[in-house]
Amino acid sequence: PILERHGGDASRLLQVLLEVQDVCHFIPSEAIDLIAAHFGVPRVNVEGVVGFYSFLSTHSVGEYRLLFSGNITDQMLGKDELMQYLCNKLWVEPGKVSEDGLVSIGSTSCTGMCDQGPAALINGWPLTKLDHNRLDLIAELIRSRKPVADWPAMLFEVVDNIHRGDVLLGQPFEPGAAIRATLARGAKETLVEVDKSNLRGRGGAGFKTASKWSFCHATIAEEEGGVICDIDGHPERFIVCNADEGEPGTFKDRVLLNSYADLVFEGMTVGARVVGASKGFLYLRGEYRYLLQQLEAVLKCRREAGLLGETILGQMDFSFDIEIHLGAGAYICGEESALIESLEGKRGRPRNRPPFPVTYGYKGRPTVVDNVETFACAAKIAEKGGAWFAAIGTAQSTGTKLISVSGDVARPGIYEYPFGVTVSQILDDCGAEGRPYAVQVSGPSGTTISWKEFERKIAFEDLPTAGALMVFRRKRDLFQVAQNFADFFAHESCGFCTPCRVGTELQKKIMSKIASGYGTASDLEELKRLGHILKTMSHCGLGSSAANPVLDILEKFPDMVESKLKAFAFKPAFDLDGALATARTITGRDDDWAHL
Ligand code: SF4
Repeated sequence: PILERHGGDASRLLQVLLEVQDVCHFIPSEAIDLIAAHFGVPRVNVEGVVGFYSFLSTHSVGEYRLLFSGNITDQMLGKDELMQYLCNKLWVEPGKVSEDGLVSIGSTSCTGMCDQGPAALINGWPLTKLDHNRLDLIAELIRSRKPVADWPAMLFEVVDNIHRGDVLLGQPFEPGAAIRATLARGAKETLVEVDKSNLRGRGGAGFKTASKWSFCHATIAEEEGGVICDIDGHPERFIVCNADEGEPGTFKDRVLLNSYADLVFEGMTVGARVVGASKGFLYLRGEYRYLLQQLEAVLKCRREAGLLGETILGQMDFSFDIEIHLGAGAYICGEESALIESLEGKRGRPRNRPPFPVTYGYKGRPTVVDNVETFACAAKIAEKGGAWFAAIGTAQSTGTKLISVSGDVARPGIYEYPFGVTVSQILDDCGAEGRPYAVQVSGPSGTTISWKEFERKIAFEDLPTAGALMVFRRKRDLFQVAQNFADFFAHESCGFCTPCRVGTELQKKIMSKIASGYGTASDLEELKRLGHILKTMSHCGLGSSAANPVLDILEKFPDMVESKLKAFAFKPAFDLDGALATARTITGRDDDWAHL
């Protein structure tokens, strides 16, 4: 029945595998054969997909799979001790399945609940605010084999925690308002308004949204004649909303999707009208699958209200619908070309670029991929105009930014500010505890700033961010923070290119060596060399930003790092570079890279 429901399009492969995993608690070998035959793809392709996503497994993960969120903020709230506590209660080793096959307990990357941690997932459903009492109850529920659907609702309570709203979160929005304004103004004029607004992508890269939309539209215009068409004869283009919010410390898209889904879907529909797309996808990270049902309900309401589907608001030449596609625990799928691969049912491996998705995206067709918050802004711009939006924020960073605040603060949660707000203002508003020592802006791939830099501004021209702000008070061990981030990148590297696959592992190992008290000055030099390789030679943004937190603490907190070393002046007894001299002679190479 699972295969029948999904039809024969191989792009449904990942969705099918997720359902099989749910039912069987793993992907049986016979299921792989059946799925491969059904979609007409080699078995090895299906195995490749299963092996790629961390929520899929070829061996049983137990009837109950509990994965603790491993972000540094969860760790600061006692995640390691709590995980061991539950393991002891259920007689299971971390990372293993209990002997009776009932339960497994392990760690996963950030689950996007940093404002209400320590958090975990039980069979994909989020558990928040874990403490010993809650874990006692959970252990009891597991021992009595109570289905997760019947567990007390309070265990799964996820709150929005909005502490400051502005134009997105603080003003009412009437569903349909942006589409009506778009239809009245026309697609071309709406693009002019988006251009005037100077809206830039909220996923972190900050690419101008109007340019992306206009490239996508222009590609088809140039190709007209030999293009692939949909069943109505229109050239195919796609709108994709990137809700794979995997950057540790970021959870603002969770809130937008939970309470402002209409605004997001409306922005996608406006985008569709501008570029001429008739199909859209929301790529929802696996950790947020608990939102799936309610998002489907919003889509249904919008179809019934004539805001989605055929002839939107009676406009004969405007049809557009949205399908939700679930991710399965792979941070790299937040990268737009990896996301498209995943949408096509494949491993989420970043593509070579160019061509960019706007010209060659989903199934080779022009595709706009924008962040959840970007679409929410686009809806507001369509409704209120580009000049209105451009008047908010700074010259290069117009509008507002949603910031997910977590760590050592009294009021973790979501804060919406006009761009240009200082870090110190945010710290005041969220009740930063004690004297904050450092702040991680934009998650592990972003920037670590010290207390000397708190007057810096959140803006593309100073501190660009996808929306995370993790606060660390003075007594926090920042080395441990950077080590957590190094572990994260080693775990999430997709393994496609050597500099990142090997570099992130080496970085993790050196950080671990220093943390265990065996580090020397040469390890710091090695970290810098590795950082240079990762930055300059990686295939995609994950690898090129994987050394950021390590290099930042080396530069900004040298005393703290050096205090961890066993001996500052220690030199390794083994001369690796000297040992490789013969190999260099044989290969005829004597450049910088041959000396690494
Ligand atoms: Fe994969 Fe890392 Fe290479 Fe990106 S940089 S393609 S994540 S191995």
